[in-house]
Amino acid sequence: MILIPVFLSFVYKINEDLQELTDYNQQNISGPVTLEGTVRNHEGEKLEGIIVKIKEVNGNIREYISEIDGYFSFSDIVPGENPIIKLTGDKGTGHISLNRENINSSLMLKYPVLTEVIIFHNNDNHFNFNFVEEIKEKIDNTRDLNPNVFFLNAGDIFINNPGRWAQPDDLEWYQSQSVSTINEMNKLGYDALTVGNHDVQPFANHTFEALIKAEFPLLAANLEIKSGILPEFKPYVLLNTEEKYTLAVLGLSQCDFNGINVLDPFLTAEKYSHLSENNIFIALSHLGIEDDIELARAINDLDLIVGGHSHTLLCEPLLIDNTMIVQAGTGGKIQNNDNPAYLGMVTIILENGIPLSKEAVVFKFTRIGSVVCICEDIDFVGFSDYFRLEIIIILLIFLIGVICKKFLFK
Ligand SMILES: [Zn+2]
Repeated sequence: MILIPVFLSFVYKINEDLQELTDYNQQNISGPVTLEGTVRNHEGEKLEGIIVKIKEVNGNIREYISEIDGYFSFSDIVPGENPIIKLTGDKGTGHISLNRENINSSLMLKYPVLTEVIIFHNNDNHFNFNFVEEIKEKIDNTRDLNPNVFFLNAGDIFINNPGRWAQPDDLEWYQSQSVSTINEMNKLGYDALTVGNHDVQPFANHTFEALIKAEFPLLAANLEIKSGILPEFKPYVLLNTEEKYTLAVLGLSQCDFNGINVLDPFLTAEKYSHLSENNIFIALSHLGIEDDIELARAINDLDLIVGGHSHTLLCEPLLIDNTMIVQAGTGGKIQNNDNPAYLGMVTIILENGIPLSKEAVVFKFTRIGSVVCICEDIDFVGFSDYFRLEIIIILLIFLIGVICKKFLFK
């Protein structure tokens, strides 16, 4: 199937006065209002002979007229104040979003046969938000070109101690780092965070006080707060594209803090699998790469798993059936301005809201700039790989010991 990305750029022409158009879609409208537009391709070139008119007769009744060198038909798919109209014809199928706010100014109605959704992601920053200005610039530049750009974090934004892992001291350091981390994340414009095990291990009241400053939803569908010393987490968040397609982002996490009841993440994902209906279904997971693979096998309807916890740098995404798994390494366990920062980018092309293709890359930011990670450059190292390495070293030492004992120290 050859897909032609076609956009309708409507220049509005109103037959009656503006007041009637402002009352658009209300029952008391009388008299016709016509929006007229020409069809343009993705490069903005006018496609000759194609004109579409949408005529408002009264209230919710619309009449669609096409002066097209082919066949087109229209149907309402989302009625209401900003209706979305489906247009089907021999040049493809797409949706027209009638954005009411634009009606009195310059009306630009798009007809996206194809919609590009971009999801930036990172994980396990552990207070180590290096190269934040460079990352912000990259995301902002992408947002300038595309209204459907989202930014997710798969957890463990905090850490307990700068030099050691999980040492509950230095509360003053923790307090300033946790607050500045949330402030940085607010500036970066995150759309959601799944809280990691380090983010839900409370230190005095500082964890609570930092987390409540977040201007983005905190997710964890399988964590139930018993203690009240942490903010409540949401199970999922719905993010909308400009054309009102929805990304349902489900948070799954883990922790060993006894103020939290941890539910089985796989059963929890199953419970929320209805979110896949009519939505792009994404798990924002702090379960680690091995559980993410299991999750992809268990829940077939997941379009994407954005992972964390195992610090796995997937320079190429994993594909399990139709589910793509991505993860973008770590910001580093110990704060160091020279640590590289990783930023994952997933591009999903939708055809009328349904994923048509998915691609993913990871950018590595260092002092000399940012590059796309390629597999040859990267050690695929997660927790489990460290453990395997340790076991191999112990076995080698044991073997050398045995050989020495047998042959040298007889
Ligand atoms: Zn973790």
